[in-house]
Amino acid sequence: MKAEVAQQRSLLELSKLDAELARIAHRATHLPQREAYERMKVEHNAAGDRLAVVRIAVEDLDAQVSRFESEIEAVRQREERDRSLLRSGATDAKQLSDLQHELDTLIRRQTSLEDSLLEVMEHREELEAQLAVELGAIEALEADLASAQQALDTAIAEIEQSRQVHSSQRDALTATLDPALSTLYERQRAGGGPGAGQLQGHRCGACRIEIGRGELARISAAADDEVVRCPECGAILLRVKAFEQ
Ligand SMILES: [Zn+2]
Repeated sequence: MKAEVAQQRSLLELSKLDAELARIAHRATHLPQREAYERMKVEHNAAGDRLAVVRIAVEDLDAQVSRFESEIEAVRQREERDRSLLRSGATDAKQLSDLQHELDTLIRRQTSLEDSLLEVMEHREELEAQLAVELGAIEALEADLASAQQALDTAIAEIEQSRQVHSSQRDALTATLDPALSTLYERQRAGGGPGAGQLQGHRCGACRIEIGRGELARISAAADDEVVRCPECGAILLRVKAFEQ
């Protein structure tokens, strides 16, 4: 197969663009900003879980507080009733002693309930402080998460822009290529490796393998417009210099 030197030069350009597009694709799937964002999301979720646990504990203590309060209120009403009975004087000695005994028991019961209530309320206060800490942490994490998201979006947009620029350069270049040369190039690329490589000294620029003396002599002897392939990887071996050189 033959291809003008200018066509070979365009192919070299195309292979460079494809290498750049491959680097861009790799960058897109290995963004450090994505890793940072995912890490932040995990931290944020963990803080949310901790917050939920503390909230449930506070609710549980609230329920205990109202239980104690209503028990205390009931005891207080019993005490009140007993006291007014005592005050009314309409009782005999036996009833009086029973009432006094019950009142003493009720007062002890009230003290014990009030102690328990105090304990629960102290614990609740500790949890409230913990809740405030967790809320502060989650607020900070939300801000971090938002800026991580923004950094990720920016990185994605930059990569996408670069991909579009290189991709349209590729389209323009492909349009100028001889279809047969382009087909050969694409077929070679379909194997997974580069479609073409520049001959660099004794090495193939596509597979980096050193070409044997005999093969090299045969390649050097071929006409400039002869399309030669790397004997190792099959890539189109280009003996031209890049545009800028
Ligand atoms: Zn090669």
